[in-house]
Amino acid sequence: MTKSEKQLRDALAKIADVASQAVGGGNTSGNNDNNEEPKEGETEFDPNAGCSIKTLPTRLLAKAAQTAIAINPVNAPTLGAMANLENADVITPEFLTLLVSKYWGPTPRRLTVSFMEATSQALKNKILSHMNAWATRECISFVLTNGTGQVRISRGPGGYYSYLGTDILHIPANKQTMNLQGFTLATPDSEYRRVIRHETGHTLGFPHEHMRQELVNRIDPQKAYAYFLQTQGWNKAMVDAQVLTPLNQASIFGTAADQTSIMCYHLPGSITKNGQPIIGGLDINATDYAFAARIYPIPGHTPVIAGATSDDDWDASDDVDNQTLEEAIRATIMQHNSPTDRDSENVLAGADMHTA
Ligand SMILES: [Zn+2]
Repeated sequence: MTKSEKQLRDALAKIADVASQAVGGGNTSGNNDNNEEPKEGETEFDPNAGCSIKTLPTRLLAKAAQTAIAINPVNAPTLGAMANLENADVITPEFLTLLVSKYWGPTPRRLTVSFMEATSQALKNKILSHMNAWATRECISFVLTNGTGQVRISRGPGGYYSYLGTDILHIPANKQTMNLQGFTLATPDSEYRRVIRHETGHTLGFPHEHMRQELVNRIDPQKAYAYFLQTQGWNKAMVDAQVLTPLNQASIFGTAADQTSIMCYHLPGSITKNGQPIIGGLDINATDYAFAARIYPIPGHTPVIAGATSDDDWDASDDVDNQTLEEAIRATIMQHNSPTDRDSENVLAGADMHTA
């Protein structure tokens, strides 16, 4: 790798990291400007804590992208996502790794869960029950293990975060994949729903809903330029690329942007056009469940999708057979006819028109 390539990779990783923290209202990396509330004790429950999607070290971005696509080929960047990029200069192999989704795919899976600190069985069970709220509608569930889990939870300092989907497989076994700072049995149930279900969504591969176009549109560019210049030192082009151009707009199975989605976190009114904050979700809502059921279908269940074609418009016996399908595909290819053939077709077409 040349020096300039290394600089580019480092910059891209920093951008991805800072963007997810900034837009997510995260307060790690010594960024103290986006949280007006005084901090409580280090490992105490903080009702105003934001969330950051943790990103892997730069050196692992390409490898993790390969992992994600090997587990679930649909994770590869879509043409639609790439068509969104107005600035072709940023389309590098490194940049494309940021467009790879991290969903586990439709194969039913059971992910094991362990805890980094000594944790009572009652607390383990309670956290697990909220993680498995998703499992009521999808083919991925979570189960406790006394060994080292695939999902590893710490309740120590660091706020709330999770790595995204299949990225958790790249985290060393002695590090947590999810952080739930200060969660105890005394933490309000509402926070179990808001925070643990949200972080579990990240573990399932769901990104932040507020990166979606409709919600990004509510952000006042001028306020965002000032805000991110002050807090991150970004110039205008950087804010355009990383905050005002949603990367996940064309991700698979996109639903309408939903600011009450559990995957949408609060954004301050100070950077929106009308001064109103983006509210953020408090629990998994019907749209979240429907989305999860489509990405992680439970075998034998056909999720009901509003507006979708009815399943029984025709009998299975009427389905287009493979031979007909192949012929139909061939028929769409333009034939390189000789001029003579083309002339005769034109003549025939003309004759038809005259006799019609
Ligand atoms: Zn989050």
